[in-house]
Amino acid sequence: MPSAAAFFEARSNLMYSIQCRYSNMEKQATNLHPFHVLAKPVGPLCNLACKYCFYLEKERLYPGNPQPTGWTLPDEILEEYIRQYIASQPTPVVSFAWQGGEPTMLGVDYFRKILALQERHANGKRIENTLQTNGVLLDDAWCEFLAGNRS
Ligand code: SF4
Repeated sequence: MPSAAAFFEARSNLMYSIQCRYSNMEKQATNLHPFHVLAKPVGPLCNLACKYCFYLEKERLYPGNPQPTGWTLPDEILEEYIRQYIASQPTPVVSFAWQGGEPTMLGVDYFRKILALQERHANGKRIENTLQTNGVLLDDAWCEFLAGNRS
């Protein structure tokens, strides 16, 4: 049977080991660095064909992909992207950037869904969005949506 002194020494060593592990986990969590991602939820699809565009040719990588459904980021991947992107940013404000191709080809409802998912996973952080668009599809519905969600 171990002596009381040996028991307390073993317990103290165990507590020290747990504290070290916990402190390393905390260090890893606070060692996150902010980074920026451009999301392309409609891939290279666009309603224009600018001569200088470097990105439209990517469509040829997947011949026969139906438009736009074959290019739209599916709901489960969209949600996982939003969840992980927010969780991986150590800042109190998280900035999303939506690009294409032409992201407005997805329609306003797709972006309403994005806002709902961001709200679900915000975890107290402030979420910002930027949208890079050629503007051709910006009708009244889009303008109401954008004006109604201005930060
Ligand atoms: S609007 Fe943008 S994405 Fe569309 S063809 Fe022109 S440069 Fe490419």
